[in-house]
Amino acid sequence: MVKMNVESFNLDHTKVAAPFVRLAGTKQGSHGDVVYKYDVRFKQPNKEHMEMPALHSIEHLMAENIRNHSDQVVDLSPMGCQTGFYLSVINHDDYEDILVILEKTLQDVVVATEVPACNEVQCGWAASHSLEGAQQLAKEMLAKKDEWRQVFAE
Ligand code: ZN
Repeated sequence: MVKMNVESFNLDHTKVAAPFVRLAGTKQGSHGDVVYKYDVRFKQPNKEHMEMPALHSIEHLMAENIRNHSDQVVDLSPMGCQTGFYLSVINHDDYEDILVILEKTLQDVVVATEVPACNEVQCGWAASHSLEGAQQLAKEMLAKKDEWRQVFAE
């Protein structure tokens, strides 16, 4: 295969075993700051995906809550294939701590009583949300916490 610019285009998606949390890349700035980008994969590629309302709500919930657990979060955004999220953090190279931060954030999702910012002022598609769907996704992800470190099928 020709090497592509986008890291994940060089990942063989048929060989992975979701769910997992994978360091997808790092980028160092000229002053030494380093951004770490993680592939937080919820669903097995080309076998399952997250439905849009649930994905959208868990995105809002995680993006808002994860920042209560770390001030090094740069971004958390969904993948267009609807199988996971990218999490970018700055100057934080502790993979195990990333797992703890994600676990705490998903626990926040499970106990949430509403989706933050799901209105037409604060969101671009306020009608497309599902708190119940988001909580189901969070529960499924948490139930397989022991598998997060294993990226590839054996
Ligand atoms: Zn939104």
